[in-house]
Amino acid sequence: AGSLAAVAAALEASSSSPSPSSPAVGGSGGSRAGMTPPVTPSLFDEPTRSLSVIVPAFNEEENIEVIIPLLAKQLQLANRSFELIIVDDGSTDRTIERATKLQADYPVVILRLSRNFGKENAITAGLEQARGSAVIILDADLQHPLHLLQRYIELWDEGYEMVYGVRQRRSDQSWILRNSSRLFYRLLSKATSVPIPRGAGDFRLLDRKVVDALNNLPERSRFMKGLYSWVGFKSHPVPFESERRGAGKSNFNFRGLFALAVTGITSFSNLPLRVWTGVGALISSLSILYALFIVGRTLIFGSSVPGWATLTVSILFLGGIQILSIGILGEYIGRIFEEVKGRPNYIVAEVLRPESTDA
Ligand code: UDP
Ligand code: MG
Repeated sequence: AGSLAAVAAALEASSSSPSPSSPAVGGSGGSRAGMTPPVTPSLFDEPTRSLSVIVPAFNEEENIEVIIPLLAKQLQLANRSFELIIVDDGSTDRTIERATKLQADYPVVILRLSRNFGKENAITAGLEQARGSAVIILDADLQHPLHLLQRYIELWDEGYEMVYGVRQRRSDQSWILRNSSRLFYRLLSKATSVPIPRGAGDFRLLDRKVVDALNNLPERSRFMKGLYSWVGFKSHPVPFESERRGAGKSNFNFRGLFALAVTGITSFSNLPLRVWTGVGALISSLSILYALFIVGRTLIFGSSVPGWATLTVSILFLGGIQILSIGILGEYIGRIFEEVKGRPNYIVAEVLRPESTDA
């Protein structure tokens, strides 16, 4: 019984002594490993600051073949060891087959989700799988300029824990989509205390610390853009121009974006709930004034029948407001229900690793 406790204590000690006292990785761990086996040695225990790249892919068969070689080239240029994680988000085309074929030439890990869970969840799945000392997230459709990765890595080496791309202009969206997104970000910045810059999306480099923080967030409804800035850390923006999409078309229509916007607001703000306290108070005080006015008028001029119009209008108005506020309550209760059910955000059907590195 005592020996087990000793092993546990040794494990604890070896895992909780990262850099401060002993910058030389490997050396200090090795001496302690005389008694206990080292804690899961992995491809990435070398001190080179390795990278994991997460590419969420939903029906991207043509793009995936193009982006993986380009990505590998960029990372070799930066002289890093890396792994490329393709998260197949329930594609119905031949994304998986093509990705599997790429494994012959590149260190590609394929995470096949059991169905389409949406981009946010695909990224979450990738983050939990990634092993690198930093993680880069990137769209599969070539809209995120790959040459910027050098800059990202440079900034990371300078000590930034998060580097995020800020899209300057977007030409592939309709007028209405563009303007509603502007409205959304304005609303969001009013309603929350977490600054969520417009145009800052999922094109990011996250240090291991940030990845661990994100992985430890228990919530299910994941508005990644908000969570990135909620976790904080030393961040640096990098402006970029969105490229034209490779093959295929965008998966986000107005409805999808609206749903995402509602998730964004409701998971980062209670303002929609609180606003009704104010509205209620205002209406009640106005109606008290109005009641006083009616009493006064009746005392002076006697009673009269007219007033049905006022009545109808106020009933309709109040009815409308009540239904609206109940709807908003429902929105939050629905989200509580989702969280309470505690279902996983995604299901991994299989993890396909390249043959050379089966860990
Ligand atoms: N994506 C995904 N699951 C989805 C929708 C999209 O993994 O349900 C991926 C998609 O393959 C791409 C990225 O998310 O790599 C961005 O998607 P898209 O280009 O459709 O969005 P947009 O660029 O219009 O925001
Ligand atoms: Mg795109």
